[in-house]
Amino acid sequence: MTSEGQQKNIVIVGGGIIGCTTAYFLTRHPAYNPSTHKITIIEATSIASGASGKAGGLLALWAYPASIVPLSYKLHAELAQEHDGAKRWGYRAVHCGSLRAKGRTFGDTNGGAAKGSGEEWQKLPKTDKEKKGKTIAAGIPKDLDWFDAEAVKGYSTMGDPSTTAQVHPFQFTTSMADLAKEAGVKIIFGSVTAIDSFGGGVRGVTYEDKETKHIETLPATDVILSAGPWTSHVYPEAPIDAMRAHSVVIKADVSNYAVFSEVDLPKDFGRTGGGDVKKRRHGLTVSPEMYARPDGTVYACGEGDTHIPLPKTSDLVVCDEDRCQDIIDYCGSISTPMREGDVLAKQACYLPSVSGGGGPLIGSTRTKGLFLASGHTCWGIQNSCATGKLMSEFVFDGKAKSAKIDMLDPKKFL
Ligand SMILES: Cc1cc2nc3c(=O)[nH]c(=O)nc-3n(C[C@H](O)[C@H](O)[C@H](O)COP(=O)(O)OP(=O)(O)OC[C@H]3O[C@@H](n4cnc5c(N)ncnc54)[C@H](O)[C@@H]3O)c2cc1C
Repeated sequence: MTSEGQQKNIVIVGGGIIGCTTAYFLTRHPAYNPSTHKITIIEATSIASGASGKAGGLLALWAYPASIVPLSYKLHAELAQEHDGAKRWGYRAVHCGSLRAKGRTFGDTNGGAAKGSGEEWQKLPKTDKEKKGKTIAAGIPKDLDWFDAEAVKGYSTMGDPSTTAQVHPFQFTTSMADLAKEAGVKIIFGSVTAIDSFGGGVRGVTYEDKETKHIETLPATDVILSAGPWTSHVYPEAPIDAMRAHSVVIKADVSNYAVFSEVDLPKDFGRTGGGDVKKRRHGLTVSPEMYARPDGTVYACGEGDTHIPLPKTSDLVVCDEDRCQDIIDYCGSISTPMREGDVLAKQACYLPSVSGGGGPLIGSTRTKGLFLASGHTCWGIQNSCATGKLMSEFVFDGKAKSAKIDMLDPKKFL
């Protein structure tokens, strides 16, 4: 039974990629009728202000969980086709591989402190084709020419353009929000403080308006909790954890590869500033991920940390400049274009995950009309479209139809 004629007030908590794709797919569901179905996103800070605006954006058929990956990968391709995603959010197919390399010390680069205080770095001119050809290491694809030949120890393919793609997550998320708005979705900026229920069913959402600071209540027949790592702040029963991760964007116009690296740092690896040794790493192996983007940049991210607990809102997330500089130094130790490119962004965000592993959680809870769509770990960009589509089916059809997702049932985890 569908709920075509039924009046619905659908409230989505959180304007990250999951909330925005859910809003988009609700408006594309055959039962959606803007005159009887009111859809509202309530976002505490701004659209895509959390991980959804600061992620890498890799999409892969080899991601997890297998129950939703193929559906989501296909929907990404269809959306890109329908809305000119190549232009609008940088959608493209990519090569992907894992690289083993030995980092070298170059002193400070990328506008970091005191160039020349360490060993002089050697500039390899990108336009010099002859020299560029010589820098390609054996065993690595010919066009993966942005790693220094002396640094590369090995390469293995993880995906190719038939199994791997990418989007610019901020552009994709804000586009989903815009397309949903054009189809009738309203966006309110405010922080949800409570989900109101009565007799075993939801009946409203209470929030503090971002501008006025007034406490308001919005009546609701259906509430979708998609506040990423903040989901458990809004709904403490949700077993969702948060882990901080840093990333950088460097200007470097390089070939179309997403690279998972393992870099052995030399014993003397360190950063010097104003003549003082600020930091030294001894015999450490680090694993920055580097994704070339079609806008002539490379996105790179490092490992997560749990030093600072999740703050109340995304605008209070603390970015540790030293951790960003570490990522820049690690990448620069094996790649000349990344060593020389201007740093365009240094940022931090929190990854949502399900306590004890598994997930994401997609589906209904024991409260009628209350749904969870959260805990997407490091594949939330990839799995956003399937999540949005499946949430639209839960709301309008009462069950998931496009994929078999019993394993992701929130009731198993609550
Ligand atoms: C460094 C890094 C790299 C990544 N790279 C990739 C990748 O390459 N590919 C991939 O598939 N995935 C990647 N991910 C994972 C992906 O970013 C996340 O899984 C995804 O962004 C989660 O989206 P979300 O909408 O659930 O959460 P979020 O993006 O955190 O959005 C939640 C939203 O809820 C809002 N909110 C919070 N509290 C409230 C409240 N009380 N009321 C109203 N709104 C509220 C927040 O302001 C925020 O906008 C990466 C993650 C990290 C950290």
